[in-house]
Amino acid sequence: MSTRQEAVRASITREIRKITRPTDQSGKTLRVSEYFGCNTFGLDQLKDKVSKDSYELLMNMVHRGSRLSKAAADEIANVIKDWSLAQGVTHYCHWFQPMTGLTAEKHDAFVNTKTSDTGQTLTIEKFSGSSLIQSEPDASSFPSGGMRSTFEARGYTAWDPTSPLFIMESVNGRTLCIPSAFLSYHGHALDTKTPLLRASEALSKSAVRFLKLIGDVDITSVQATLGAEQEYFLIDRAFFAARPDLLMTGRSLLGRSSTRGQQFEDHYFGSIPSRVLAFMNECEQELYKLGVPVKTRHNEVAPAQYEVAPIFEDANLAADHNSLLMDVLCRVALRHDLVCLLHEKPFAGINGSGKHNNWAIATQKGENLLEPGKTPHQNLRFLAVLCAVMKGVYEHADLLRVGIASPGNDHRLGANEAPPAIISVFLGDMLSKIMDRIESGTKIEDASDEAILSLGVSKIPVVARDNTDRNRTSPFAFTGNKFEFRAVGGSANCSVPMSFLNTAVADSFSQLADRLEKKLSTTKSRDEAVLALIKEVITETKAIRFEGNNYSDEWKAEAKKRGLPNLTTTPEALEVLENEKATSCLVKMNVLTSDEIKSRYNINLERYIKQLDMEAATLIEMIDTHVLPAVESEVTKVATAVASAKSAGGAISSERLKSLTGIYDSISKAKAALATEYDRTQGIHNEKEKAKVLANKVLPAMVEVRKYADEAEGIISDDLWTLPKYREMLFLR
Ligand code: ADP
Ligand code: MG
Repeated sequence: MSTRQEAVRASITREIRKITRPTDQSGKTLRVSEYFGCNTFGLDQLKDKVSKDSYELLMNMVHRGSRLSKAAADEIANVIKDWSLAQGVTHYCHWFQPMTGLTAEKHDAFVNTKTSDTGQTLTIEKFSGSSLIQSEPDASSFPSGGMRSTFEARGYTAWDPTSPLFIMESVNGRTLCIPSAFLSYHGHALDTKTPLLRASEALSKSAVRFLKLIGDVDITSVQATLGAEQEYFLIDRAFFAARPDLLMTGRSLLGRSSTRGQQFEDHYFGSIPSRVLAFMNECEQELYKLGVPVKTRHNEVAPAQYEVAPIFEDANLAADHNSLLMDVLCRVALRHDLVCLLHEKPFAGINGSGKHNNWAIATQKGENLLEPGKTPHQNLRFLAVLCAVMKGVYEHADLLRVGIASPGNDHRLGANEAPPAIISVFLGDMLSKIMDRIESGTKIEDASDEAILSLGVSKIPVVARDNTDRNRTSPFAFTGNKFEFRAVGGSANCSVPMSFLNTAVADSFSQLADRLEKKLSTTKSRDEAVLALIKEVITETKAIRFEGNNYSDEWKAEAKKRGLPNLTTTPEALEVLENEKATSCLVKMNVLTSDEIKSRYNINLERYIKQLDMEAATLIEMIDTHVLPAVESEVTKVATAVASAKSAGGAISSERLKSLTGIYDSISKAKAALATEYDRTQGIHNEKEKAKVLANKVLPAMVEVRKYADEAEGIISDDLWTLPKYREMLFLR
C-alpha cells in the first residue's frame, strides 16, 4: 500500500478518544464552574495566602513598577511553591513570547540540594523569590533583529504578575508556567508582551485625560478588552505526515481543488463531526482548567475548518490566553490523531483562517466605553470615544496594516474571503447617519427615521444599539458595542495588532485632549465644546469610513482616490516601520523605542525571507520527488497500453500520452523558471531587495508551477498519485 493509501485507511479507522472528566472525591462529575481555573494561581489567591505587607509591595510593583523586596519575593515564591507541590508539579518555567510569534519556555526542577548542619547533602524542593521574578534564558538563540549582538547574549525574562501562573499538564508530569516579559540586558523588549503592556498603559493614560476633560472625573483607568475568535483547520495526522508542504511550511503548496469545496455552504454551523467534537471537548476541559473562558465552538465556512471563541478579557490576559489556546489546540489535536493547522491559508480555493480581534475599551468599573449609553452624557461620551477610535485608525492605518503582516496573511487578505489590505472602518447604517447629521449640522429633530434617532435633552442624539447591521467584508467593523478587527491572521500573536491598535488610539486620545482643552477655555458649555470637536473629527476622518463591499475592485480604486494605503504584501507593509513619521507615535507613547522598531523590522523581514525561501525549496523538491515521477510512471503505463493495443492489432488513441508529455514539459519548464528565480535570490544580500524578489518573482513562479502540477493531479491514475488529495484531507472524518 502506498503512504497515501495507508493514510486514507488510517484516517477512517480511528477510534474516538475518550477523556476522563474532573470529579470530586465521591466520584461525582464536576461542573465547569467548579473546576474552572483549578490549574491557575493568580493575584486573588496570592492575596489570601501572603502577608498584607508583601501583597502591598506586590501591588506597588504591578501598579507603579517599584521593586519587590527580597523578603517579600521569597515569601511569595514560597506560597507559590507550596501550592505547586500540592498539585504534583515538579518543574517551573518562565513562559514568554519571543518575536518568533510562538511561546517559549525553559524548565527548571524545584528539586535542589542543600548541605545540612552535619555536612550531609539533602535533597529538598526550593523556589526562591529571584527565580520567580527573573530568569536568564540564553537570549542569543531568539530573534533580536540586531538589538543584541551574540557576544551580548544575556537577556532576561521578568514575571508579569497580572497574568495568572498556570500549570501545564502533560501525560506524565506537570509544570508551573510563569507568564513573563522577555527583555535584553539593557531593557529592550525582545518579545510581543512588553509592547502590549506599554501600549495598554499609554491608552489608559491618554484616555483618562480625555475622559476627565469631557466630565468623567471618576474614571481612573481604562483597559482595552479583547475577545479573539480563532479559526483553524483539522486534518488527520497521517495526511499531514504524507505532505511535505504541510509538514514544512504549514500550507499546501500543491493540490488540485476537490470537486466539492465550500459551494454548498453546508459546513458553516453544520453538525460537528464526532471525532472533532471529542477533540473540542478535551480542548475545552484543558482550557477551563487553565482559566481560559472559551465559550463558542462551531464549524467554519470551509470543509474541515472550525472556530473557537472565548469570553473577552483584559487585552493582555486575552492575548496570553490566545497563545495558550493555540498551544492547547495543537497539542490536544495530536492526541486525537489530528493536526491543527493555524496557517492563514492552508488550502487554496477555500477560505483561510483569521482571528477576529474583538476590541473595546472598558473603565476600571468594567463599563464599556463603546456601549451606546442611556443618558445624553453617556451618548456624548460614546460618540467622542468612537471618534477617537476612528481618528486613531485613520491616522495610523499603515501601522495597523504592519501589525497584521505575515507571509501567511498575504494569501488571505483581499482573497475574497477576508478584508483587503486596505484598512477602513465600518460603522453601520445608523451610526453613519448620526455622523453625517452631526457633520452637516442637520438638526437631529429632522431625522426622518425616528426608530433610529430620537432626541435627547440637548442636541445629543440618543444612540440605540444596533446589532443587525453587519458588514463581513470590512477589516475594522463596529458591531454594536465593540470593534471587530477582522484582518488579523489565524496564526498571529494578538499582542502585536493589539499593541499597535492601542497605541494608535492612545495617540488619538492625547491629540483630542489637547484640542478639547483649548476649546474648553473659550466655550462655556462643555457639551458644546465636545460636540464641536466631534464634528471636526467626523470631517477629518471621513476618508476612513467605508460601508460598501470591501472585496470589490471599485473600493480599491476609491480607496486610492481617498489616499488610503493599500500595502498588499508583507515587504511593502514592513516598509512602514522604516518610516519615522509613521512610527513616531510608538516612540511618543513609549511603546517601542526606535531601536526596538528597527529590530522588529529586521526580524519580520528575515522571517518573511526564510518562510518564502523554504516554501520555494519545498515546492521544487516536491515536484522532483512526487509530481514528475508520478507523471513518468503514468507515461510508461499509457505508452505500454498503446503499444500493447497495437501489437494486439487494435489501437488506443495516443491523445492521453500527448497530454501527459505536454504537461510534463510545462511542469519542468515552470519548475526551471522557479529554480532560476529562486537561485537568483540566493545571491541577493540586501534583505529588502531579496524579500521583494521573493514576493514579486518567486511567489508568482510558484503559482505557475502549481497550476501545471494540479493539472497533472487531475489526469494521473489515482493509484500513482502519492500526495494525499484535498478531498481526502478535507472530507474524510
Ligand atoms: P458577535 O455576535 O458580534 O460575533 P459575540 O457576542 O458572539 O458577538 O462576540 C464575539 C466575540 O467578541 C466574543 O469573543 C466576545 O467575548 C467578544 N466581545 C464581546 N464584547 C466585547 C468587548 N466589549 N470587548 C472585547 N470583546 C468583546
Ligand atoms: Mg467568525
